[in-house]
Amino acid sequence: MNYRHIYHAGNFADVLKHAVLARLVRYLQNKDKAFRVLDTHAGIGLYDLTSEEAQKTGEWQTGIGKLMEGDLPDPIAELLEPYLAAVKELNPEGGVKFYPGSPKLARMLFRPQDRLSAMELHPDDSRALARLFEGDYQVRVTELDGWLSLGAHLPPKEKRGLILVDPPFELENEYQRLADGLNKAYRRFSTGTYCLWYPLKKGAPIKDFHERLQSFEIPKMLCAELSVRSDRLDGLSGSGLIIVNPPYTLKEELHTLLPYLKTRLAQDRFASQRAFWLRGEEKPEDG
Ligand code: SAM
Repeated sequence: MNYRHIYHAGNFADVLKHAVLARLVRYLQNKDKAFRVLDTHAGIGLYDLTSEEAQKTGEWQTGIGKLMEGDLPDPIAELLEPYLAAVKELNPEGGVKFYPGSPKLARMLFRPQDRLSAMELHPDDSRALARLFEGDYQVRVTELDGWLSLGAHLPPKEKRGLILVDPPFELENEYQRLADGLNKAYRRFSTGTYCLWYPLKKGAPIKDFHERLQSFEIPKMLCAELSVRSDRLDGLSGSGLIIVNPPYTLKEELHTLLPYLKTRLAQDRFASQRAFWLRGEEKPEDG
């Protein structure tokens, strides 16, 4: 376990993931009934972007740093409001020194009845996360293999839930593991909303990954991808999200948000984006 998210916190991939996560949390709050967020690979929850590690890569500067420069047009400002309001709340003096990871962001958006179960396997990171939420009765942090939580923690007792699966992709077969993890979880909790993160880079088996997902009996799967540069160079060129049981408005929102993020975060002329149903009731004009 070499991966440490502090080197990547606030980068372009976090921007897409956290902007969508915030929208999914807000959507669940359309009903009064409580829900649970299960964050299977939670990280440390709060990142200091002035730390030596974050400064070393400077990745946040071409992610959240770019997005926070200047005003946003409508309706982008509205779509990003829950996400950026949390970032601003952590940085009352302006700029972005502190950046919320997924568990912190979800928690900042919660109502009193909502709950978070956060899994983190790295002992140091798990301890840091537990410290961050110490005394918070709405949050439970567990040092556990997040893949196991897809069995052990589902369905949540609230019977409403959002499951974020955001593994570090250190292993070769992580795409397959991610797809199979979803399939296993969905069998236990088919009414939950799922959000799966995956990297886009040279040689990534995206077609196989999508085909595997399409082979499952999961009827509503939306895919959102944003690449900020050509994948001919090494390293992360973009990222994707699979959203199972998305809110009915999400696809249209992505069709507004993704082109904007592409333009704002592009690092070269090969930046691209797409949002489409991987499985679902596709209308002819969709794609
Ligand atoms: N979800 C976080 C966010 O958006 O702020 C970032 C998570 S980071 C991409 C992946 C995290 O998973 C790392 O903190 C790593 O230590 C942790 N991790 C790695 N393998 C794990 C496993 N099997 N179970 C739980 N956590 C794991």
